[in-house]
Amino acid sequence: MSSRWIAETLHENGGLTTSYRADKVLYEERTDLQDLVIFDNPTFGRMMTLDGATQVSTRDEFIYHEMMTHVPVLAHGNVRSLLIIGGGDGGILREALRHKTIERVTMVEIDAGVVEFSKLHLPMISAGAFNDPRAELVIADGTKFVAETDHRFDVVIVDSTDPEGPGAVLFEEAFYRNVKRCLNEGGIIVTQNGVPFLQPAELTSTITKFHRLFGDASCYLATIPTYVGGPMAMGWGTDDAALRTLPVATLAARFALAGFETRYYTPEVHAAAFALPRYVQDCFPG
Ligand code: SAM
Repeated sequence: MSSRWIAETLHENGGLTTSYRADKVLYEERTDLQDLVIFDNPTFGRMMTLDGATQVSTRDEFIYHEMMTHVPVLAHGNVRSLLIIGGGDGGILREALRHKTIERVTMVEIDAGVVEFSKLHLPMISAGAFNDPRAELVIADGTKFVAETDHRFDVVIVDSTDPEGPGAVLFEEAFYRNVKRCLNEGGIIVTQNGVPFLQPAELTSTITKFHRLFGDASCYLATIPTYVGGPMAMGWGTDDAALRTLPVATLAARFALAGFETRYYTPEVHAAAFALPRYVQDCFPG
């Protein structure tokens, strides 16, 4: 049986593609907005790509979803209302709802097709989170939502695609400014900011804008094997600089109170994730 190989083309302009053997293609269609492929790979399990960029794999999604969620939530320490921009597969929603102190999670996803096909073909990612009474799903452009909502949030997590297609607007200063408008005092924004070894300009662009908008702008790192090229940067913006350097003991006490198990996140990993190698620091504006 000849196998089909599905290429990730995100870095093809740099002469790099990675291919995944697709032992079974479960879904391949253009939604109203994006080309969506869901397939099974022997190493990474079930995978989803959007417009040729790997979005999620069942084998390593826990790393990304735990680190994008528990780092800002436990650093903040008293999250009641959380906003997810993007996040169509439901992984961030699942992790956010594990915090029983969180009263409401609003998820603004532009492509209903991603949510529907993820529920159908990747149900283990959302794991029922869309049915949680605290979850509110809004199908809309995230930029429009943050410009118009009168709701306020303690943490905003931008789980976007890369800055191409419908995701491009989620990397613009106007969007970040409106996110800040929606944040409560002491609030935190976290952004999916690509792999700085391959996409340094993306991180520089975001941090430069965060520097203009927030008292503290940085990033933290986690290595997700299917996001090729080394550690991924998660952009960090807040007006409370102390939130980035909390002692492990504080994080550990909060994590113990949260009362759930993780497979990647630990308070020590949380603190260490903000220790940046020189080449990542060099992405920051002077
Ligand atoms: N974890 C993935 C990564 O790091 O690339 C991202 C996962 S999630 C599938 C990305 C989501 O962002 C997609 O569902 C996409 O439809 C959504 N998205 C893209 N542009 C958007 C916009 N302007 N507003 C809201 N959602 C958007």
